[in-house]
Amino acid sequence: MPQDVQEHKVAIVTGAARGIGLASARWFLARQWRVVIVDKDAPALNAAREQLEWEAPGRSLALPADVSHPAQVADVVATVDTTWQRIDALVNNAGVAVFKPLVQTSFEEWRYVMATNLDGAYLCSQAVVPVMRRQGGAIVNIASISGLRASTLRVAYGTSKAALIHLTKQQAVELAGLGIRCNAIAPGPVETAMARQVHTAEIRADYHAAVPLARYGSEEEIANGIGFLCSPEASYVTGQVLAVDGGFDAAGVGLP
Ligand code: NAD
Repeated sequence: MPQDVQEHKVAIVTGAARGIGLASARWFLARQWRVVIVDKDAPALNAAREQLEWEAPGRSLALPADVSHPAQVADVVATVDTTWQRIDALVNNAGVAVFKPLVQTSFEEWRYVMATNLDGAYLCSQAVVPVMRRQGGAIVNIASISGLRASTLRVAYGTSKAALIHLTKQQAVELAGLGIRCNAIAPGPVETAMARQVHTAEIRADYHAAVPLARYGSEEEIANGIGFLCSPEASYVTGQVLAVDGGFDAAGVGLP
């Protein structure tokens, strides 16, 4: 194996064309990792790759794929294995949000949210295990404070994130013996395209009241938590949910 291939750890980040995923890719690149960015939005993914290539030449790969499609996920892992022969971290970040109550959520909307937020993490995690187990690694699932607390608006989104938290614990227990740690991040509100889509002015005002730090988090602040859980500094941490939420969970108030 060429020396340069051995030197760099490899992370796969899904939903990395923008937002928290792209910030996470930058976290890894800044620490000399190689990064595979995956997203179903191919034009946005290619634009992101161009930026990363300029910032860290030769250490990123962009693979367009829908994480809810088993064959596309299998292709991603096979390509990474062929290219860099290892996977040290998987960040299951790809997600979609529909903020509606039970009685207004169509079955199509329910399936769309579950397929991306839950099936996607299951499929990607299952696919990387045969490669990751060779040298050990870490999986981080991006859940949400919506998976910690029920609300009137998030029957599909909140349920998918609560299930993702349990999937994280299942994975942690099952994969510990293979040297693979699994944890979840529960972000509070973060100023991204997703938030701009589903956070109404009322939700925004309520979040500022409900979050003790009284502001939205940044993509980089979430990426710092993700990176920590993938790093050797977290070597004894598995099966945990780290809320990066400005104190929302500790305050114990309801979701806007
Ligand atoms: P975003 O919408 O800015 O980015 C999500 C990315 O995922 C997009 O580029 C999108 O194309 C991609 N994606 C969606 N479905 C996909 C699929 N099936 N296959 C591949 N790619 C897919 O969102 P964000 O705010 O950066 O969110 C990232 C993660 O953080 C999500 O899981 C989200 O639920 C979670 N989260 C966000 C917030 C917030 O306030 N922004 C809060 C809590 C949790």
